[in-house]
Amino acid sequence: MTDALFPRLAIIGIGLIGSSIARAARLNGLVGEIAISDLSPVILKRAEELSLGDSYHVAAGDAVVGADLVIACVPVGAAEAVAQAIAPHLKPGAIVSDVGSVKGSVVRQMKPHLPDNVHFIPAHPVAGTEYSGPDAGFAELFVNRWSIVCPDEGTDPKALDRLIAFWAGMGANVECMSAERHDLVLAITSHLPHLIAYNIVGTAADLEKVTESEVMKFSAGGFRDFTRIAASDPTMWRDVFLHNKDAVLEVLGRFQEDLFALQRQIRWGEGDRLYELFSRTRAIRRGILTLGQDEPEADFGRSHKAPPKSPSE
Ligand code: NAP
Repeated sequence: MTDALFPRLAIIGIGLIGSSIARAARLNGLVGEIAISDLSPVILKRAEELSLGDSYHVAAGDAVVGADLVIACVPVGAAEAVAQAIAPHLKPGAIVSDVGSVKGSVVRQMKPHLPDNVHFIPAHPVAGTEYSGPDAGFAELFVNRWSIVCPDEGTDPKALDRLIAFWAGMGANVECMSAERHDLVLAITSHLPHLIAYNIVGTAADLEKVTESEVMKFSAGGFRDFTRIAASDPTMWRDVFLHNKDAVLEVLGRFQEDLFALQRQIRWGEGDRLYELFSRTRAIRRGILTLGQDEPEADFGRSHKAPPKSPSE
């Protein structure tokens, strides 16, 4: 018997986020046993070499047997397959959650398959890096970062409290909001910036007047910071855009209008308006630093060393 918050945790998908949860949950004494599942036997073997769990299963259904908390840490597009695989094996009373960067779609994919006697409460830690795989995770990933939990009207308050305690126990600040609200907020704060970064890096690489070696050489002029974001996992981000289509298209429309306005201001030499915008945006950056959501150093304040490549790379 253990007096941990959750005697048995099952993690489905042991990449950056799943392995960070495994490490943080263990470090903070939040769980007794950890069962790990991943579709890839190579990744699963690596997770075992890293001693991330107590048992390892290719079949997600095997991992969730007897689990009190199940967290799907797979790309958003795989949420339905995971729900189908685990549904017949879940323990009555278990909490089923996830970490997907889109919430409305995950609810639509998972909820219909899950039995009524489990508590389904989606979540999303707003913390990550551009790396993937079990080697990339680290126990401090969630410390002082927000984790958004998305209960609905039917959510059991006790189950919700336990899930919040789990994230808080890993050092996260927790906020609850609806799945719809989450998807709009994240479309602005995360999905649009990633789309812009992917686009800028793609455009710069394609520009014929500038050679690729010049792009690399003079990248410190701003380009470099976009390349970090644009190096994020292609599968994960493909799924984010396909599954948060409506909210992303809405904020993208607004972004394009603002971009046209900037284009006009540059064309007509409206320096005052440019200066006013750049002053407002500088204040937003200062606000983020004041809130402790980044550090002032260059390289986005990343103090941890780049992890070794995962075996799948
Ligand atoms: P990751 O490092 O690529 O890990 C995902 C793992 O899930 C991979 O090992 C993948 O195996 C495995 N997988 C895929 N489909 C599966 C299935 N049906 N059953 C079991 N395992 C499966 O990705 P991640 O960065 O941890 O992202 C995981 C989730 O967290 C995504 O939904 C993402 O939106 C969310 N998230 C990511 C970040 C971030 O910054 N990365 C931040 C917050 C939330 P294969 O590689 O063999 O496909």
